[in-house]
Amino acid sequence: MAQTKENIVMFPFMAQGHINPFLSLARRIEKANKYIITFVNTPLNIKKLRSSLPQNSSIHLIELPFSSLDFGLPPNTENVESLPDHLFYNFFQASLSLKPHFGKLISNLINQQNGQKPMCIISDMLLGWCEEIAQEFGIYQAMFISSSGFASACYYSLWMNLPHRSTDSDEFMLPDFPEGSTIHVTQMEEVLRAADGTDIASVFLREELFCHWSKADGILFNTIEEIDKIGLMYFSRKFGRKVWPIGPVVLSPGSQARTGRDFGISQEECKNWLDEKPSCSVLYVSFGSQYTLSASNMIQLAMALEGCGKNFIWVVRPPLCSDSNSELKANEWLPEGFEERIKESGCGLLVCKWAPQVDILSHKSLSAFLSHCGWNSAIESLSHGVPMIGWPLVADQFYNVKFLEEQIGVCVEVARGRSCEVFHEEIVTKIEMVMNETEKGKEMRKKAWEVKEIIDNAIKDEENFKGSSMETMDQFLDAAWKLNGENEG
Ligand code: UDP
Repeated sequence: MAQTKENIVMFPFMAQGHINPFLSLARRIEKANKYIITFVNTPLNIKKLRSSLPQNSSIHLIELPFSSLDFGLPPNTENVESLPDHLFYNFFQASLSLKPHFGKLISNLINQQNGQKPMCIISDMLLGWCEEIAQEFGIYQAMFISSSGFASACYYSLWMNLPHRSTDSDEFMLPDFPEGSTIHVTQMEEVLRAADGTDIASVFLREELFCHWSKADGILFNTIEEIDKIGLMYFSRKFGRKVWPIGPVVLSPGSQARTGRDFGISQEECKNWLDEKPSCSVLYVSFGSQYTLSASNMIQLAMALEGCGKNFIWVVRPPLCSDSNSELKANEWLPEGFEERIKESGCGLLVCKWAPQVDILSHKSLSAFLSHCGWNSAIESLSHGVPMIGWPLVADQFYNVKFLEEQIGVCVEVARGRSCEVFHEEIVTKIEMVMNETEKGKEMRKKAWEVKEIIDNAIKDEENFKGSSMETMDQFLDAAWKLNGENEG
């Protein structure tokens, strides 16, 4: 292994669901005490992270210049959080403008180290172009996929094989998946259903993203081999190269404040509220960092939460179309008097926009998680043995729910997509199915606990690299070091 400290450059996409797992991975690598980590991002994201790292951290935060205004984005947009759909593409375009700055950074790092190259670049699945920079400097590059292997494989396979409905059936084989792996057309994300391969989204994904994926030297997955074999196998066969399941890479309880985000409630207040509730009695409801429900679905969800008689914590994010300053007082997307009634009854806790999620999921009062099933949320839930009620809103979330429900058995889907119309009675039925002593509920809790045990084993000893995911991580670092040595030699 390495004698002197080697440099590892890490570069996540500018979204909390990407920055969080990269940061956790950086901290995990830091523990090995053999590497200097250069963590790259745009100024505002770095500023938030800077205040959160301990002084003696070997993680160096480096800013790249970024101008959102040049791409028709609102001033200071450096994170996709709450960005309306029509500006998403602009944000991706803006992210491409980071390429020359990243190249310059790598060149500077090499000069500062007397010609010694970084050992490897670990870059985001959404910053495919980093592969070209790594190639230019002859540096080993691994792409870190922060979704499940299964969902990423569905996503890649479906977007790369358009159009789908070549037969009369709405159910079809997932291209290049093992025999019997089918998908129903309604299980696909809404934009994909409308795509034909020549539309903007298809062309962008193919030409700006996927073409780079196949050229990465290796692919790291925030997943666990024992539960996610199909997706991992898909990529190792398709690209003919090594895939490294090193997950779960998640923030630990108590460490979330160190991502530089402000919570809508203090961790202490949240804990005190949970401490007062009976064990396994609370439903946690959150749809991640980016997306919101429609106003009518917000109202239905609120009615369901009030009507089901369960304890709950709901991270409330106003629908995008509404005035973001009106937040919890917006009576056009919450039933009249809802907040006051919830406060009075004490059964619910409404948190504005951002909650200490891992702390909540790890609390003994938690029973279930109603989630959009972004992979970080899903894997954080599974790490604490909490079963899920899935409501995917976009992209890979659809395939994560399919995976969690059909392959692992720890989730039931309640609704699909942002334009669906859902009624509160249907939500109540699913909440009761999962939280009550029904056959299905008991089975899901048992499964979720089994998966938690698999996960605990996979990262049994982070300090000494014990457990399947930790051993894979060790092998990855070793392989990168050896390859780097060969390149330098
Ligand atoms: N998160 C959080 N508090 C919130 C909402 C989200 O800490 O109120 C964190 C969550 O723990 C996870 C990440 O933000 O690590 C969200 O990632 P995910 O992949 O679940 O969804 P995305 O935001 O990317 O859609």
